[in-house]
Amino acid sequence: MIISMRARASKEEVDYVCERIREFGFRVHSIEGEERVVIGVVGVGGDVTACLESLEATPGVEKAMRISAPYKFVSKEFRRERTVIRVGSAEIGGDDMVMMAGPCSVESEKQIMETAEAVKAAGAKILRGGAFKPRTSPYDFQGMAEEGLKLLAKAREATGMAIITEVMSDADVPLVAQYADILQIGARNMQNFSLLKSLGKCGRPVMLKRGLSATIKELLMSAEYVVAHGNQHVMLCERGIRTFETATRNTCDISAIPVLNELTHLPVILDPSHAAGKRSIVPALAKAGVAIGADGIIVEVHPCPEKAVSDGAQSLTIEGFQKMMKELKGYIELWKQERMAEMAVTA
Ligand code: PEP
Ligand code: MN
Repeated sequence: MIISMRARASKEEVDYVCERIREFGFRVHSIEGEERVVIGVVGVGGDVTACLESLEATPGVEKAMRISAPYKFVSKEFRRERTVIRVGSAEIGGDDMVMMAGPCSVESEKQIMETAEAVKAAGAKILRGGAFKPRTSPYDFQGMAEEGLKLLAKAREATGMAIITEVMSDADVPLVAQYADILQIGARNMQNFSLLKSLGKCGRPVMLKRGLSATIKELLMSAEYVVAHGNQHVMLCERGIRTFETATRNTCDISAIPVLNELTHLPVILDPSHAAGKRSIVPALAKAGVAIGADGIIVEVHPCPEKAVSDGAQSLTIEGFQKMMKELKGYIELWKQERMAEMAVTA
């Protein structure tokens, strides 16, 4: 169950509702939004129907809803309108197909500046670049850490682009949040629950990548952690999953996008780079992502992929990115028409 309190309901009203929920044998998990408090009712054993009926008649309550999915706050049942996340000049989840681009790793000032200017000119609004890198081998490049964050901040200053970068541990959240506009949670950390909890109060939007072998339900449960701990600005990212197929680095689960669009109001981003593992496949997957209704695409771009310290094989060159953006134009126009039509219906 979810109880949505009226805007500006008093603290006494909220406390009374929580007390009633406990009397019915449930636990309370509330989140305080900018406008209103929303209370998640958790637990089994209580009488759901009686509780719902009683709360509907309680002062301060706007709506009491039964939610059948195990994730509550991120479900479409809880909120039908899409969540829109505003970052810099981008509106993720709105009528803007948001392109995020940049290198896998931040390597040097020259590399990040050159990439930022080129991807911005080609239409990207958000600059990606890893400063903390989750590498399979401990002997591989681990990222430039704070030095890399500083270079990203410099690129933001020079271009006005917003920055997305990965944070790998809860201890680093305050540091990364100082520099980044969006915190990326990598596939390998999708179920790092202490990290997820620490994002609740980080004050930045979060992009949660699907784990290598995670189901869609598990992805949504992880997003629920972040929202339940106080941060409603979460976007999800399909980046390919591990299957028996070896022709690509991962298998792009393209159906995850419409499935997520049915189940959640959160924006969905496609990462064709990590799904494909090789650059020749990336534009085709990006087109598929736009055509199937993703809210944005995040793609790896490097000025000289053969010299990249990580993921060079899947990184587009700057020319490759420019070409892909041209090819995507018609797809994005159609996408926009569809989104505007949807917004006109729901308005
Ligand atoms: C990345 O974005 O560079 C990355 C490491 O992605 P993932 O967590 O999806 O492997
Ligand atoms: Mn990468």
